[in-house]
Amino acid sequence: MKWINHQIVTGFIVYAATDNALFVASSIVGAVIPDRVEGSPPTESAAYWKWRKNHRTWSHYPPLYLGLMAAAQIAISYFQNPKVELVLSLLIYALVGAVLHIVEDGICGKVPVFTPRRKHGIKLFTVGSWREYFFAGLIVCGCLLYRYKELFLVNG
Ligand SMILES: [Zn+2]
Repeated sequence: MKWINHQIVTGFIVYAATDNALFVASSIVGAVIPDRVEGSPPTESAAYWKWRKNHRTWSHYPPLYLGLMAAAQIAISYFQNPKVELVLSLLIYALVGAVLHIVEDGICGKVPVFTPRRKHGIKLFTVGSWREYFFAGLIVCGCLLYRYKELFLVNG
């Protein structure tokens, strides 16, 4: 999935789930972390294949991000300070963005699930294709329907 679609889809999912602008902004920043930590692919051939070999391994390993989220949650409970809680909540939503990035990569390719080197996934579309934009639009519509479901309920 292209970065712009990672950011849009992730932002809408977090918006639908939280209705919190700060958490949405934080998740949008986090939505590119797994690719950012890998750096740009080198142009020189040997370096490129070395980079490619490690592409979507540790950087896209969900337990790493889930572990950091758990540590941040434990720190929130430990410190019991509103300022610390806000900062760590923003960190948690950046990590939520990273986990959603991995899930989104998992529907257009393969990502590690149980071990960093064994990848799983379903390829619903090719990156950059019209189908990617269609799926992104579908997810955005689903999030808006969920967020504004009261508007569509007859007796609501
Ligand atoms: Zn990725």
